[in-house]
Amino acid sequence: MKIKRIVLLLGIAVLVLGGGIRAWNLIIGTYGQAVFSDQDPVYQAVMKRDLLCLMLAYPGYIKNVEKSADGKVSVIMQSGKKILYDDKKEKNSWQKSGNPDLQDMMDQIYPIADIKELLPNNFNPGCARVYPLLNEVYGKNKGQILSNLAKVSIGYKFVEFNSNNRASEALRSVMKELLPLARQNYKIYNAAFPSSGTFNYRIIGGTNRLSSHAYGISIDLHDNKYDYWRWSTREQGQKRLNAYPREIVRIFEKYGFIWGGKWGNFDIMHFEYRPELILKARCFSKEPVSGLPWYDGLQDNKEAWKYIWLIEESLSKTPVS
Ligand SMILES: [Zn+2]
Repeated sequence: MKIKRIVLLLGIAVLVLGGGIRAWNLIIGTYGQAVFSDQDPVYQAVMKRDLLCLMLAYPGYIKNVEKSADGKVSVIMQSGKKILYDDKKEKNSWQKSGNPDLQDMMDQIYPIADIKELLPNNFNPGCARVYPLLNEVYGKNKGQILSNLAKVSIGYKFVEFNSNNRASEALRSVMKELLPLARQNYKIYNAAFPSSGTFNYRIIGGTNRLSSHAYGISIDLHDNKYDYWRWSTREQGQKRLNAYPREIVRIFEKYGFIWGGKWGNFDIMHFEYRPELILKARCFSKEPVSGLPWYDGLQDNKEAWKYIWLIEESLSKTPVS
């Protein structure tokens, strides 16, 4: 009798705990990926969604996907270079940002809805960057990147931004909406300008990795001493977050930029052009549901259909060894 009761209680505890973890994963925006495997339909669906978001976000640069004989999936760039989707290595969050594959890069879902509180320390959607992808799209070295830079007006001056993959065009669209608003509203003007910089060929502090500023795809708006997690406490960061005008954030997100204010390791002045993450956040923020096609959420997007077909066709082919 007693044993039965213990078993029952244990069962309930497992259910509650499991439900709790799942709910937490949804709140912090992953699908609880650790349990996925190749045969898992959820893994397959998430992989296809990630590939679709990448193909839509980098249309002139990714031409196809491929499955090798050992089952590994890659994207194929226009140059012919292949970039692995999943290296199948177990990584902690630190290793994920240091040496991510495409799956790691897409894993944490950027919260598109407004946030009231700073996100947990290890939740940094977009901080994991796949450098071979950035190199292919924006330039492989300083010289190449420099030659891709275009000038964009931010009202009182011009800044340099990468013209590849429509990045400078996206910043131009942002400014077209932001500038009239800033002229009417001092709080917005003061939060945005003067800008603290765009292109800057430099390494991220405390690491040996290139900053996204080195590719000319990020802009720092008017800085504040509490903007960066290394310079301020979470309490100070929280206060700064509370006061930040969300109109600015919404405009940047509309044109494919993520905001560093939505990183646990916050960087509140920082906006970065990452259309693949905004797309995933908008279309695939919820876990795939069995019975619905994996691309549910992008069915009405005509542009998406050619990639959906391509992904289905390429991944169902007998792999070449
Ligand atoms: Zn920055």
